Order: sequence, then C-alpha cells, then structure tokens
Amino acid sequence: MKKVFISALIRSNLIVLLFLCGVTAFAKPRITIIATGGTIAGAAGSSVNDSYKPAQLSVEQIVASVPGIDVIAEINTIQLANIASQNITEDVWLTLRKTIDYLFSNNLADGVVVTHGTDTMEETAYFLYLTLSHSCPVVITGSMRPSTSLSADGPMNLYNAVATAASSESKGKGVMVEMNATIFSAADVYKGNTVAVDAFESVYGPIGYVRNGEPKYVRNISSVFAAEKYNYRPPFDIKELKTLPKVEIVASYAFASAEPIRAVIASKAAGIVIAGVGHGNYDRAISAEIDNAVSKGISVVRSSRIPKGGVDKNAEEYSEKVPVCYNHSPQTARILLMLALTQTSKPKDIQNLFEQ
Ligand code: GLU
Repeated sequence: MKKVFISALIRSNLIVLLFLCGVTAFAKPRITIIATGGTIAGAAGSSVNDSYKPAQLSVEQIVASVPGIDVIAEINTIQLANIASQNITEDVWLTLRKTIDYLFSNNLADGVVVTHGTDTMEETAYFLYLTLSHSCPVVITGSMRPSTSLSADGPMNLYNAVATAASSESKGKGVMVEMNATIFSAADVYKGNTVAVDAFESVYGPIGYVRNGEPKYVRNISSVFAAEKYNYRPPFDIKELKTLPKVEIVASYAFASAEPIRAVIASKAAGIVIAGVGHGNYDRAISAEIDNAVSKGISVVRSSRIPKGGVDKNAEEYSEKVPVCYNHSPQTARILLMLALTQTSKPKDIQNLFEQ
C-alpha cells in the first residue's frame, strides 16, 4: 500500500516535473520594447515621399506592424518618449537607464529593445553601455525609412532586434545596435550615412549579423567596459545622479576663431571635447583658450573629426593636462568625459579611462 502510494506520488511528481520542464522549454523570452520615437515611428504623406515627420506612431502601432514578433518572444511595451532623437534629453537618458536597470534587477525582462531615432542612436547606446551592469542584452534599433515608406526598414529591424535580445547567445555582450540585419557593439558604432538603410558602421566591423531570425556573432567585444560572457561590469555607477556634468564639443577647422570655446568657458561647462582636425590638432586661437579653460578647472579632452586612426598622446600637440581620446569620436568622447567627471577631474585619471 505504502509502496503504491509512493510510486503514485513519484509518478504524479514526475508528471508535474515533465509539465514544468515543458513549460520552461517552451516559455518565450520576455522582451520589453521601450520606444523613444525616431523614424521607425515616423510617417509621410505618401509611400515615396522623402519628407516625413518622425515620432508619430505609438509603440503598440509599431509592434503591430511586425508579423511574428510575438512568436519569438513575449512582448511588453513601454512608451518612454516620442521624439526625434536630435531632441534627446539628459532626462530621457537617465530615465531610460533607470527603467532598464529596474526591469533587469527585478527579473521582469530577459532582454530589452529600445526603438530610437538614428541621429543620436550611437550616443544613447554608448551612454547605456557605460552605465548598465546587467548581463541581459539591450539592443537599440530604429529605421532609416518612415513606417509609411515603400520598403520600410523598421519592421524587419525591430524583428531582428527582438530576435537578438531574445537569444541566449547575446548575454554578456553589453549594449548593441541592430540595424539592417547587422549587429554592432555600442562601444564603437556610429552613423555613417544620412539616408542608406545600412547607415551604421564601425571602424572594427560589426560583431554579428542576424540570419533566419537568429544572431550570429563573428567577433568578441574587446573593450573592458563590455565583458566576455556573463561578466559585464561597467565602471560608472550613476544610480543617484539627477543630472550629468555639462560637457560641450568645440570644433576646429580652417582659421577657426576662439569665439565658440570662449562661450563654452563662460557657460561654466565642466568639460570640453575638442573635435580637432587631423590627429586631434587645433587652431592657435583655440590653443590659448584651452590653457585658459584648464586654468579655470575645466577638463579638456582632445579628439578628432576624422573617423579612423584615433588620436594618440603626442603626435603634434601634447600636454599632460589635456588627455586624448584615442579611438573615440568627439560625441562618444563627450559621454565618457561626462561620466569620468562624476568620479574625477584629474587629467591623469581621465586619460586612464580613455586608455582602457
Ligand atoms: N532625425 C530623426 C531622429 O533621429 C529621424 C532620423 C532617424 O530616426 O533615422 O529621430
């Protein structure tokens, strides 16, 4: 009798166990899509119109335009903003970071997809890349053509971004940008074309591609800020911050005047990134004002408007008080300087952060 009871119990438990295994095996990854606007939410008067308005559709409307998206993942949505990304704000960045942190910290999502305008996509991606500390993937996507366009690229981009965020292969890769079936690390991606659907590039190449609804990775991420699998530990803890240090970019060019940098110094910026010419060089008029800025306690970092080659410490210009950005663009150097300034204003420490 006892035996029968135990074996019945084992059998019923086995059935429960098998049922649970089945549920787990077939449970879809939970992906939260956080929408911020951009061309992916844009609409035009006709399907071949070049002029359109970004940020017109809601996240529900965008998701509804992607057949099969709910087959690969359990989709949840958040409408965080609906703006063109040239108007992105510090507030949106901080709220976005906090929202993603909350979702992962409370086990409410297995991955996050952010829809975003392409103009500042690389900046938002890099900011999140340096400030999130989860191994769950964050994939940013958007589109180059509005939703009403003949051959709109938004639906496929969103499908592929969800597929990337839903894949266990994507864990520990930090924040990524997925556009045109190509996956980039937020560490080095930039927009390199104003109209083409393959607008995004990296000097180091993509980290992967999406094929048949699955990410295929072709290179590891080498930056210390992104980890090898399951080991993502970024250096900037900004949980308590309500604002970011003010850092502006000042460009050099043929016979550049000192007016813009003087205005930035007067605005009490905490930092200035020089978007220099060539190897991070700048006009003498700017040089004098850099010394002025440094003497006032403003941190200055030297970068270049040239996308390839980087800026080393001592090509033509050299000052140990003015760190160089190595391989950052002016716009990503600005983000790293903002975050660096939450920890230190010592040129040597800032230089170290750029060297990592
Ligand atoms: N300028 C708009 C933005 O960045 C549209 C560009 C786009 O999304 O491709 O939001």
